Amino acid sequence: MNKPLILVVEDDTAVRNLIVTTLETHDYRFQAAPTGETAIMEAASHNPDVILLDLGLPDMDGIDIIKKIRTWSKKPIIVISARSEDTDKIEALDAGADDYLTKPFSVEELLARLRVTFRRLNDSREEQVQNSVFQDGDLKIDYAGGCAFMKDKELHLTPIEYKLLCLLSKNVGKVLTHTYITKAIWGSAWDNDVASLRVFMATLRKKIEPNPSEPMYIQTHIGVGYRMLKV
Ligand code: CA
Repeated sequence: MNKPLILVVEDDTAVRNLIVTTLETHDYRFQAAPTGETAIMEAASHNPDVILLDLGLPDMDGIDIIKKIRTWSKKPIIVISARSEDTDKIEALDAGADDYLTKPFSVEELLARLRVTFRRLNDSREEQVQNSVFQDGDLKIDYAGGCAFMKDKELHLTPIEYKLLCLLSKNVGKVLTHTYITKAIWGSAWDNDVASLRVFMATLRKKIEPNPSEPMYIQTHIGVGYRMLKV
């Protein structure tokens, strides 16, 4: 397979150099863009496998770049930003970003996020081939049969719990915001939907997690949402 191509959108030269050097030494190809305008141009002309995106750029806000790119591309976008408020993360994830890394970040963490992103891409490719069964550790979901198993024992899930589990599994490795999940499950995103979501998440965890107080399958991102992990 060709080396993956990563578009690095960052106006800070020092940070950009750090990222591209890291990518280079880890066998990724890269392209760098210091502004929003060049980022959109590069994304459109080279169709990179992953986009690493700073939000504070001189000519445009990163959120608008995500929205623009999402009109034609589904390629993973990982935000790397100094904005650390939950509302910033939620805004970026809702706009279509796949993951969020807060500055200052460690190079190891960036590489780990990239590995997760590529694993997820490969999994969804494989899933399209096999497409009806999802396996993650001891958890198995038979999408076609509409049932789920833990250690080969069928789980007794309510329809909402099952929907929730499928939604998370189809986005394994990706943080889904409360709003995204409630819209997908209930078609709305009111405050009481988010409260219901917490309740269903707790009952779902009791059924799938070996130790619900230390979940291994579904990670909580406090104030943001949930992510299913590849175990
Ligand atoms: Ca910046």
